[in-house]
Amino acid sequence: MVYDVIIIGAGINGCTSAYFLNKAGLKVALIDKGGIASGGSGAAGAFISPKISKEGVLKEIMETAHLEALKFYTTLFPDYTLQKPLLHITKTLEEGKTLRGFKNETTLNLTSLDENMEILLTDEAKNSESICFSNGAVVDAQGVCHALVEGVDFYQYEVQSLHYEEGVWHVGDLRASHIVLSIGAYEKIIPLPYLTLRGIWGHRIDIQTSTKLPTILHHYVSISPTSRENIMAIGATHNVHYMPTDEEPYDIEEGRKELLEKASKTVNLENIKIVHDYAGLRSGSNDYVPLLGSLVDAQATLSLYPQLQYGRAVTSSAFVNYPNVTMINGSGGYGFVLAPYLASRLKEYLVDKKPLDERLSPARFFARWIKRKK
Ligand SMILES: Cc1cc2nc3c(=O)[nH]c(=O)nc-3n(C[C@H](O)[C@H](O)[C@H](O)COP(=O)(O)OP(=O)(O)OC[C@H]3O[C@@H](n4cnc5c(N)ncnc54)[C@H](O)[C@@H]3O)c2cc1C
Repeated sequence: MVYDVIIIGAGINGCTSAYFLNKAGLKVALIDKGGIASGGSGAAGAFISPKISKEGVLKEIMETAHLEALKFYTTLFPDYTLQKPLLHITKTLEEGKTLRGFKNETTLNLTSLDENMEILLTDEAKNSESICFSNGAVVDAQGVCHALVEGVDFYQYEVQSLHYEEGVWHVGDLRASHIVLSIGAYEKIIPLPYLTLRGIWGHRIDIQTSTKLPTILHHYVSISPTSRENIMAIGATHNVHYMPTDEEPYDIEEGRKELLEKASKTVNLENIKIVHDYAGLRSGSNDYVPLLGSLVDAQATLSLYPQLQYGRAVTSSAFVNYPNVTMINGSGGYGFVLAPYLASRLKEYLVDKKPLDERLSPARFFARWIKRKK
């Protein structure tokens, strides 16, 4: 089968890319070894929250991404999106200081805390610096991923390698002029020695409880409001550079205990019954800024410019890229917030021929890798 684009990886990044490219009229194939939303995305909360951070590239990107994500999920996928106010509570004095700076300049709509919410908070939560946003959202991660790829050809298998010949990429029996790599923190399919992604294992639970929460809470963990089905999501744990193996399986009881303990520092929940566990791998970039862009072919670039190894500078526009391959990745704990932002820019790049934001380019890691090699 011949496609315009083959997307490898059907997490939120791959599914949102498929959605935008398919809508733009491209013929898209989506491949995943485990099924749609079988990786980190299927485990996600997935809270659409603003990132409270200091000035910088990430803050700028996250502000726009957060607003675009709220609009995207609430208007296009309302059946999979629960909209409620969001209370963000700080854990340390340092966080409190950052939050005070944030409050002074945020343009997001704020609201006062619901009385029914306030009486459920612990003293620690009540006495900590906090902010209540009028608009927060929680998305049904698996539901939205499936809805995004309706009408897109999906193939379930593990891609072991890619092969490029005369302007066409070959992936098994499939062919396309362009490849989108959205494989999260899993093993890379093409050599990218300069690109290390942090795998961050996370566990979240769905519980039933007689306590009704009217607000989304972010404190030691995120806690969703009570859904129509009386379910509340609590998550997630953070375990950097960890991936369970057959020899050392993940201790689910430890994870449950950690989540419930952390939730109890924020809110008093009664008659708790755990009804579901989810666990998966987030994929974080080393500088926390997500990745969207072409991939440098390290070997070809070093063969063309051997002087790079001896510290001589070469402008990044001269790096040799793998032809027509774009990576979308590195969203860390904000994959659902960032996906509509990243995937809509991917569509503008592939369809409308707009350049991509250089700040997101994976080539930044090639330049840093070369510097370290000197
Ligand atoms: C417990 C937990 C809670 C989270 N909570 C939130 C939250 O509240 N809000 C938020 O915004 N984000 C949250 N995140 C983060 C978010 O889920 C991630 O940022 C997001 O899932 C990244 O999506 P992705 O598409 O890049 O990667 P993934 O979802 O990991 O998708 C990659 C896919 O590629 C497939 N793949 C890999 N290699 C191959 C191959 N060779 N062949 C075929 N298929 C392949 C995998 O099977 C996988 O399905 C959470 C994550 C976890 C784990």
